Parts: sequence; structure tokens; C-alpha cells
Amino acid sequence: MLKEEKLKEFIEACKHMGLKITPQRVAVYEVLLSREDHPTVEDIYNEIKKKYPFVSLATVYRTVETLEELGFVKKVAYWGGSVRYDANTNDHHHLICTQCGAIRDIEFCIDWNPPAYMEGYRVHNYSLHIYGVCPQCQAREN
Ligand SMILES: [Zn+2]
Ligand SMILES: [Zn+2]
Repeated sequence: MLKEEKLKEFIEACKHMGLKITPQRVAVYEVLLSREDHPTVEDIYNEIKKKYPFVSLATVYRTVETLEELGFVKKVAYWGGSVRYDANTNDHHHLICTQCGAIRDIEFCIDWNPPAYMEGYRVHNYSLHIYGVCPQCQAREN
């Protein structure tokens, strides 16, 4: 789906829920849609500040939370630093650099069928995290 369509969908969802639509709010989703590095709330805030110097970190936090509640973004579980967000809500996997924390999307099919019930859980989706050292960090090692 096009970025513009997704933004329109978000605006519609906000209207539906009676939430105020501000350019800053829309900008939060725009930043998430344009980045593929799975930014933190602080990363998003720093980018939005350039355009809207008076935006508060709390507003960005709340907007990301709303986006998550409405299903427009997902949290990427990460064992290290802070919580990272993903506007790609399709099922996909992640390649994670354990040195700089870079997270990239990878799309491939795994030849693995999770059993419908696992340890008593009802499985509805799954995502694989592959940890390693990215090419940039490897170059820095030499
Ligand atoms: Zn790295
Ligand atoms: Zn992702």
C-alpha cells in the first residue's frame, strides 16, 4: 500500500476514535513509514523536532502508542537497548546487529510449520530474529 493511503487510513482511524488530528501526529506515522531502521521513540522525536521544534517527546510517545493500539505499527522485541518500532506490519523477520543495534527486515519463507498449539499457546504468528554483526561494524573492526 502507498504511504499516502496508509496516512489517510490513519487519519480516518483517528477521526473514528474521536482523536485530534494534528500535523505532528501525522508526522510521527510519516517518519515510521519512511524509515526501515526500526527507530525508537527518541529517534522519531529527533526527526520531527527538525520540522516541528515545539513538539514534545510525550506527544510522540502517545502517538506511537495510539499507532500501536490501532495496529499501524508493531513493537520489535529486542533484548538490548530501547523499544524499537516497525511500520511494516506484514509478517517478516529481522536481522539484528549486536554491535550497533541496527535492525533490518528480511523476507523469506522458513520451511517450518509451527504446530497450531505450542506449549499450550495458541500461535497466531511468529517472527525470527537473527543476530550477527553488520557489514559496517565488521568494516570498523579492521
Ligand atoms: Zn552494526
Ligand atoms: Zn521489521
